[in-house]
Amino acid sequence: MNIYALKLNILVFSVIVLNCTFTKISEMRILITLGTIFLIGFSSFSQSFKLPELPFAYTEYEPFIDAKTMEIHHSKHHQGYVNNLNKAVVGTKMENRTLHQLLLNVSYYSDVVRNNSGGHYNHSLFWEILSPKSSSQPNEELFKAIEESFGKMDSLKTKLHQAAMSRFGSGWAWLIVNADGKLQVTSTGNQDNPLMDIVSERGVPILGIDVWEHAYYLKHQNKRNDYVYAILNILNWDVISQKYKDALVDPNLGIIRSDNWPELKEFHKVMSATFHAAEKADYKPIQERNNELMVKAYILKNSEIPVLSSTETIAMNKSLSKLEKQTTELHTYLTLGKKVTNEMIFKKLTTIHDTFHEIAGLCKE
Ligand code: MN
Repeated sequence: MNIYALKLNILVFSVIVLNCTFTKISEMRILITLGTIFLIGFSSFSQSFKLPELPFAYTEYEPFIDAKTMEIHHSKHHQGYVNNLNKAVVGTKMENRTLHQLLLNVSYYSDVVRNNSGGHYNHSLFWEILSPKSSSQPNEELFKAIEESFGKMDSLKTKLHQAAMSRFGSGWAWLIVNADGKLQVTSTGNQDNPLMDIVSERGVPILGIDVWEHAYYLKHQNKRNDYVYAILNILNWDVISQKYKDALVDPNLGIIRSDNWPELKEFHKVMSATFHAAEKADYKPIQERNNELMVKAYILKNSEIPVLSSTETIAMNKSLSKLEKQTTELHTYLTLGKKVTNEMIFKKLTTIHDTFHEIAGLCKE
């Protein structure tokens, strides 16, 4: 819900109320009804994601990062992710999801959402943890955790440097609090991040280093090494220390910990590759993988269902059986059917896709 829209609406409603005198109860009832309709209408207004402001002026990052790079990086690249994310979610169910909800369940969304929700989150974190003027150090709590996981501060910096340097192509190096509550250095490609359910090493990031060339090319050209050292020199450890403290009690860490239904993920991969290709009139993937789709549905049906309420479990079991039946029917149609048409394949595949979303919806939304 857009809080500004709600505030505006409350204001409009208040003005209406103030301008009326309630001589009759029925008049008041009508007004209250109208007001409620206004409230419901406005409260379903979607949020839109916004570009955060930088804590410093573009020029203040010199000499570590040049002003032009900061300006383009923030006002063009990051703004681009924000715009594209807003465009992708408008008018869909995703509109009412928070950024964290999108990231934690990103395997259920398109690549456009994956790239742009990641791009928005990653850069927002990046701006927060950079401070060209700070000579801060980790607080005692974080310092102890660094010692426990890496031995000493320099080893952490070396690990971050290695992660940043060994990431081939575009991506990010991270310091995260993992599902066990321990610090860990990881890296991801493109705009992925450790919150995402498609990433193998998951956790809540407390520090991220952008290693896309757009982050350093103007000043450092191809010398990523120089750039990474520059970044390691301007980390805002006050902010990172606070993020460490918050991460330890972050409910998203609990979600990551319990988010383990690998059989659903395995099914989803095949579903996604076959269904989305068929949507673009490419039937080769489903011709080749319909057997795999059926087998994965069978494995899913017989896997351990994550903890749900009892009514949800009954619904889930029904959907799982339906999925198994539908994928078997499609397989039979494709292997034994005499008159196979693309229209019929697409129809059956769409039904399977709907059932899959019943299941994914049950545990995800
Ligand atoms: Mn970037």
